[in-house]
Amino acid sequence: MARVDAIVLGAGIVGTAVALHLAKRGMSVGLVDKRGPGEETSYGNTGVIVGASVFPTAFPRSLKKLIQVALKRTPEANYHWGDLMKIAPWLWSYYRFSTQEKLKDSAVKLRPLMAQSVAEHEALMAESDALKYLRKTGWLTLYRSDAAYEAMKPQLEFGAQIGVAAQELDTAGALALEPNLSPVFRHALMWPDVASLSNPLAVTRAYAKRFRALGGVFMNGDARSLHRADGRWRVDTQNGPVDSREAVICLGPWAPDVLEPLGIKLPLGIKRGYHRHFDAKGNAALSRPIIDTEYGYALTSMEQGIRLTTGAEFARRDAAPTPVQFDRLLPAARELFPLGEPNEADPWLGRRPNMPDSLPVLGRAPGSQGLWLAFGHGHWGLTMAGVTGRLIGEMMTGNTPFTDPAPYRAERFM
Ligand SMILES: Cc1cc2nc3c(=O)[nH]c(=O)nc-3n(C[C@H](O)[C@H](O)[C@H](O)COP(=O)(O)OP(=O)(O)OC[C@H]3O[C@@H](n4cnc5c(N)ncnc54)[C@H](O)[C@@H]3O)c2cc1C
Repeated sequence: MARVDAIVLGAGIVGTAVALHLAKRGMSVGLVDKRGPGEETSYGNTGVIVGASVFPTAFPRSLKKLIQVALKRTPEANYHWGDLMKIAPWLWSYYRFSTQEKLKDSAVKLRPLMAQSVAEHEALMAESDALKYLRKTGWLTLYRSDAAYEAMKPQLEFGAQIGVAAQELDTAGALALEPNLSPVFRHALMWPDVASLSNPLAVTRAYAKRFRALGGVFMNGDARSLHRADGRWRVDTQNGPVDSREAVICLGPWAPDVLEPLGIKLPLGIKRGYHRHFDAKGNAALSRPIIDTEYGYALTSMEQGIRLTTGAEFARRDAAPTPVQFDRLLPAARELFPLGEPNEADPWLGRRPNMPDSLPVLGRAPGSQGLWLAFGHGHWGLTMAGVTGRLIGEMMTGNTPFTDPAPYRAERFM
């Protein structure tokens, strides 16, 4: 029977960063996943480390937008009719957390994590030999209409109050930064405190390699086998059973598969999203991620090509892929940037693990001895992975956390 100080379940970017931080603090750690590190949600994101976010992504509250979403007329959102009843309770809860007041509250609570996110990743990347994937070039959000830009103003003003910097640009100013964009937008914001990655999968793999170099052990196994045995946590892996005093659930969208059988029910919703890689026409390139806000998609340069990522699709986690949003937004994307042909056969489907208040769940599991939770990072799990690793590492080793972890406790939903 192998025995470690801690088992970390899930080797996405969050679990790998947690495992690395625990190993750095001298703990013996087993990191368990059914696949290789970083191959699920953490593989396919937009690669943005949002050191400068204001409001979390909200559920639309204007009647016009709701009707457009209901009629499937918006490119930024899609849903499965047949799944609506099942996901309705979570959607309702998400809707209730999308008022201006609640968004401000979540923005303030997220701020300590976001503000440290770039520095924390940069430090981990430096020791993991992964700095070559890091671009500290900000990101650009584009507004095609004056109305969309005006609607952003309250958020900008609130951002300034909580220390989020943004530079207002006109079309020419944005084109000076990204000369391959077409002038189909009227306003832009440049967020200098944002960084991005050219290969998120490679970064998770680099953290996993560093974890192993510090003595950590990666194992393939099924997290659903987690159970109590002889007063400890035990999980079955391909290397045999492993037990430990403490276990950390970092299973992102799959966290309920392990928690619900243990009697821990938390309102985790899934916002599915897709990406597809395209070749750029000619020598066209992008130096930073671009968000075409009114169409709700992002374009970013990855080692695999120009990655186009979509907004949210509301459907069961395990429902078959329905990448219809590409048809709705590709004309706009091609108008903005000279995209060539897709360079892979099918779009990739990912699942953002979202709590209704858009804050992650971090800390001890309620009522379960030695069980820790680190999941539910929603739209910004890559961003918050490094700081999550640090916070969980500090809490599990009895050190003073770099920020008050109270806002992220699971008990807020109980
Ligand atoms: C289209 C899209 C774009 C995004 N863009 C960004 C962005 O630009 N910036 C940003 O910060 N975030 C972004 N995100 C969100 C971010 O990708 C996620 O929040 C993050 O990857 C979640 O990481 P995780 O480690 O919690 O989950 P995951 O990466 O999903 O890791 C969970 C792990 O658990 C494992 N697992 C599941 N079940 C079992 C089991 N039974 N046994 C063993 N292992 C199991 C899986 O194999 C997986 O490796 C985006 C997401 C999407 C979908």
